[in-house]
Amino acid sequence: MKRSDAAEKAKRAAAHLGRPGELCKAEPGAYRPVVNRARCEGKRDCVDVCPYDVFEVRKIDAAEYDALPFLVRLKLFAHGKQTAYTPHQDACRACGLCVVACPERAITLETIGA
Ligand code: SF4
Ligand code: SF4
Repeated sequence: MKRSDAAEKAKRAAAHLGRPGELCKAEPGAYRPVVNRARCEGKRDCVDVCPYDVFEVRKIDAAEYDALPFLVRLKLFAHGKQTAYTPHQDACRACGLCVVACPERAITLETIGA
């Protein structure tokens, strides 16, 4: 992904009227993005637009893959078993960019401890 493509995606997401969250004003640790494995196709738009490097896309953990329903496993297999994880979710500031940028509508923003 070229830097300019990622910047363009982030700009489009920022202008999206359906953007949830608190426009980056939330305290870290108040929200977290949750990825729906059945929807995620590892397309990396979340990685491109997140200003806080919350996401990484990598091969799904074997135990998690084995526990998924057959059709979800089939879909993941077709996408090289690539899926999004949130190793730095503590840094999320609830800008909502990932939610509206994901082409598969795979991400929701949840409040923590609400
Ligand atoms: S969550 Fe959405 S944007 Fe992120 S890798 Fe999966 S499909 Fe792509
Ligand atoms: S809402 Fe999504 S894009 Fe924004 S900081 Fe949190 S994880 Fe990153």
